[in-house]
Amino acid sequence: MTPETRLLLLGGTTEALALAEALAGDRRLKVISSLAGRTVAHRLPPGEVRVGGFGGASGLAAYLNERRIGLVVDATHPFAAAISRNAALACREAGVPRLQLLRPAWEPEPGDRWHEVPDMAAAAAALPALGRTAFLAVGRQELAAFAGLPGLRLIARMVEAPDDLAGFEIILARGPFTLEDELALFEREGVEVVVSKNSGGEATYAKIAAARRRALPVVMIARPSAEPGDHADGVPPALAWIAARLVGLPAA
Ligand code: NAP
Repeated sequence: MTPETRLLLLGGTTEALALAEALAGDRRLKVISSLAGRTVAHRLPPGEVRVGGFGGASGLAAYLNERRIGLVVDATHPFAAAISRNAALACREAGVPRLQLLRPAWEPEPGDRWHEVPDMAAAAAALPALGRTAFLAVGRQELAAFAGLPGLRLIARMVEAPDDLAGFEIILARGPFTLEDELALFEREGVEVVVSKNSGGEATYAKIAAARRRALPVVMIARPSAEPGDHADGVPPALAWIAARLVGLPAA
């Protein structure tokens, strides 16, 4: 019997979960899903799951060697740039083939009033000219870029109450949110402008559709650039990439 190939799946996204589920019955593979561990996972992927950082690119390269990993799929979030960079460096060092699974970015549609900016700092600079009550659909760590903007009401939504976020109004809620949820929120709070990362995908799109419906401007933050190398824009092409590499690969 041929021993199985070990595939490290860097996750924390819907696509990573779907890929782990699609590969669960494949006897040629042992999938190890890796999560950063920042939030409590709603649903754990099937198979082995490890949680927490590797200790930078060198730590990840050591992990690849120790666990005799044969393939890496980086299915982390499009804005998780540090882990993607580390994965590219570590795979090069360890000689392990790597695929980056990146869902397509959102594109503006008729009626959208997007102001596209390159990063959080540019988003904060653009905000005062666009509205006084802003809904900031960004992560807790990213809020720092908006701290101290004078004369603005800054609303952010998160799952757990943060300890130290003076200057922001925090709404505690857990997604997913529907178009109706977002329309009701914008109406209730009198939101005049929305700030969002261009994450792509369906799960967090309702706020963008709601902004269009209410003709609100959206400050849309562009993605960091993808790592060079192989890319897939969804689960089916990622499965095809894996299948192609399993042919003739030295197993673990
Ligand atoms: P990041 O800035 O790229 O990564 C920071 C550090 O966290 C990495 O250097 C690594 O630590 C550790 N890390 C990140 N993802 C990991 C994973 N899948 N497995 C093990 N360690 C991981 O990442 P982030 O933006 O904070 O995102 C953290 C996680 O949340 C990712 O899994 C991502 O897919 C998910 N997520 C992010 C966003 C977002 O908007 N950024 C949205 C939804 C989900 P070491 O250097 O110690 O290895």
